[in-house]
Amino acid sequence: DSHSAPNFIRNQVREEIEAGRQDAIVTRFPPEPNGFLHIGHAKSICLNFGLAEQFGGQCHLRFDDTNPAKEEQAYIDAIKADITWLGFEWDGAVRYASDYFDQLYAWAQHLVREGKAYVDDLSPDEIREYRGTLTEAGKPSPYRDRTPEENLDLLERMRKGEFAEGEKVLRAKIDMAASNINLRDPILYRVRHAHHHQTGDKWKIYPSYDFTHGQSDALEGVTHSICTLEFEDHRPLYEWFLENLPVPVKPRQIEFARLNLAHTVTSKRKLKLLVDQGIVDGWDDPRMPTISGMRRRGYTPGSVRKFCEMIGVTRADGGMVDIAMLYHAIRSDLEDNAPRAMCVLKPLKVVLTNLPEDHEETFEVAGHPARDDMGVRHLPLTREVWIDRDDFMEEPPKKFFRLAPGKEVRLRNAYVIRCDEVIKDADGEIQELRCSVDFDTLGKNPEGRKVKGVIHWVSTAHAVPVEVRLYDNLFQVEAPDRDRDGDFLEHLNPESLRVVEGYAEPSLADVDPESRYQFERVGYFCADRYACRDGKRVFNRTVGLKDGWAK
Ligand code: ATP
Ligand code: MG
Ligand code: MG
Repeated sequence: DSHSAPNFIRNQVREEIEAGRQDAIVTRFPPEPNGFLHIGHAKSICLNFGLAEQFGGQCHLRFDDTNPAKEEQAYIDAIKADITWLGFEWDGAVRYASDYFDQLYAWAQHLVREGKAYVDDLSPDEIREYRGTLTEAGKPSPYRDRTPEENLDLLERMRKGEFAEGEKVLRAKIDMAASNINLRDPILYRVRHAHHHQTGDKWKIYPSYDFTHGQSDALEGVTHSICTLEFEDHRPLYEWFLENLPVPVKPRQIEFARLNLAHTVTSKRKLKLLVDQGIVDGWDDPRMPTISGMRRRGYTPGSVRKFCEMIGVTRADGGMVDIAMLYHAIRSDLEDNAPRAMCVLKPLKVVLTNLPEDHEETFEVAGHPARDDMGVRHLPLTREVWIDRDDFMEEPPKKFFRLAPGKEVRLRNAYVIRCDEVIKDADGEIQELRCSVDFDTLGKNPEGRKVKGVIHWVSTAHAVPVEVRLYDNLFQVEAPDRDRDGDFLEHLNPESLRVVEGYAEPSLADVDPESRYQFERVGYFCADRYACRDGKRVFNRTVGLKDGWAK
């Protein structure tokens, strides 16, 4: 595919397999169920599930559910639906890191017995202070030399809920002077008296991400544990656990650069803020870079997958992907696959004065110019039609090839008309145009003159009223969250949504939710999943017609 960009992990796996160093691969996608998936997650999904698909391996879905306070069943359900919508299937049952809590606890006891973990009474602030900095070694906690017996007893009492949150933690005993701060006695367990969506009230202590992730990978036989570059510094710790615990296999952690997309934020925390503050209409608002928001906006699963293929996988951090690339991916899909229709978004009435009051004729036109399988549509023409206000100018500039007083234009798929008269109200506002039809122009050029312009139109008698939601980027600037501490909400685009009432051709009378169209001369639109009911027709603008992406 000419749109594929390099994917170093795919190349590496291919080499390993070809050299016989690796047989069946197992990957996993490990979301934390604390929000909806976004386009950055799509990159990770396409990578992990894609590798399993390409090399005949397996990909697991594992919820990384070690932080019950922020997690919810509703997020689990949404994440599963999004992955399925993208067209991927996880191997085996859905897995949860919490499935392994018993094993992880036994392994924590194992480390304690070996003198490689201890219960610490320092407060969270003290632990941070003792840990030191990049330039300054850490210092040992005064509790670091408790005996294994004492530690085992304290750990067991932590598990039983005898201590308050923050009172005690379990830490690995590694190296308080390590240059990698992650190795300065990392926390393995915290006390948390929280109800867990999977394990209920069974646990009063919860394992840390670092103590959970690699061991879960090992328990599942994961071969390639793929994560984003922030975890590069955690890799020595990931490996330390695998070395110091009796794990069945030793997976490898491989890091890649996360996706940063212009004009969006890809952090669940920030997206949640937009939802919680009511700035958007839920996680699946069509302006959200969430997978469910993109779905509602009109993206196809294929377009999201194509985009992920186009951006490739590298270790080059900090880059920013042009949003035009995403728009290109969906536009080229819809160009080929969306049926055409005419829809007038800013209606202006045109009276065709040389047609009788009861005139009605119907043109049969292709559903798609290159797709016979899309059949035909029927366009009735009557004495009054709607055209778009922007297709008329009273005093047109030189290169305006649309309608103007005394000028001609073609009604798409129908006749050439000439504007004879402009009717205004008392305030000088244009009310309607009086035009005449040249009957000798159907399917052929007019005699002796050239008419360049073609405009879309809809018969007023047959027009289907539609609500059209015109979406634009949610953020005005390319990098709303580049400044990590800055307030990304300052950069919101006040015109990210404009709602208009328009008129569509009759083929849109019975529109199925989520069906996609090219509104000719206007853009690509998708019937809203939820709002298209009880006879209401609501369309979301997916993307405009003009492709701004230069290869
Ligand atoms: P967020 O900061 O948005 O919460 P996260 O990394 O904490 O992201 P997880 O639910 O832990 O979210 O992510 C699941 C997987 O998706 C991880 O392996 C993570 O590395 C990957 N991922 C998350 N964001 C991106 C991104 N922007 N680009 C590529 N992969 C990503
Ligand atoms: Mg995470
Ligand atoms: Mg996160």
